[in-house]
Amino acid sequence: MDRYDLSVRELKLARRDARANRTIVRLSNGAAFGSQALALCAGPCSVESAEQIEATAAAVARAGANVLRGGAYKPRTSPYAFQGLGLEGLKLLRAAADRHGLAVVTEVLDPRDVKAVAAHADMLQIGARNMQNFALLREAGESGLPVLLKRGIAATVEEWLMAAEYVLVAGNPHVVLCERGIRSFDSATRNLLDLSVVPLLAEITHLPVIVDPSHGTGIARLVEPMALAGIAAGADGLLVEVHPDPPNAASDGPQSLTPQEFATMVARLRGVAAAVGRSLPTASVAA
Ligand code: PEP
Ligand code: MN
Repeated sequence: MDRYDLSVRELKLARRDARANRTIVRLSNGAAFGSQALALCAGPCSVESAEQIEATAAAVARAGANVLRGGAYKPRTSPYAFQGLGLEGLKLLRAAADRHGLAVVTEVLDPRDVKAVAAHADMLQIGARNMQNFALLREAGESGLPVLLKRGIAATVEEWLMAAEYVLVAGNPHVVLCERGIRSFDSATRNLLDLSVVPLLAEITHLPVIVDPSHGTGIARLVEPMALAGIAAGADGLLVEVHPDPPNAASDGPQSLTPQEFATMVARLRGVAAAVGRSLPTASVAA
């Protein structure tokens, strides 16, 4: 028996055989997670200004992304670090995405903010630090909006799937899992990107899985190779941090790609995607 034979545990709705087909999570601009075409989510760690988010949205849309990411509410290790622009950030993100035909994924930190975030976003991101915030999972479930559920920094596959189960059991079937690296003994990289979960999850669950090589490595130079590896492993898409001026980013500059680096990465992704029977997203109309 495999170590991760979850058949005897309490996974009811997320388990692979609970559905005839794999789940495809679709956003209103046509972006899809789990279809033949990949989902490419890109943007800054934090929304910083109208100029910054506009420049990033324009560049990632041109390069082939179909979802704009950007944090308006930031989970920072230090309470003295930049906490995000809040509601103003949500508005800037929405406006920039709409100008370029992109959907919006952004993190919600607090159950009390779910309604405000849902009013501006196409998809709610639940971050690694909140993966087992059960009140937040329930509230996100009740919103009915697609949920991007990141893996907790020390979460087992079983704990991660049970967190997804909270959203599903609240009546929301639109859940995408995001592998973003786990904490390891080795500080050579920020986290240890666990790509082995990608094919493993495909056996256990019908939910789509994407890979975040930015938080997964913490080092911009490592983002492209790990993005290619994630797609080769069977991921349904990527979440990548892109900033017009990484050295001056308010958060996560060292792991952020420049728009040019992102465009180069997407170009190289095409061949890897084709090798595993996938395609890049079709260009967004307003890009
Ligand atoms: C982020 O996406 O910027 C973020 C804070 O991610 P994580 O929750 O994976 O640390
Ligand atoms: Mn970040």
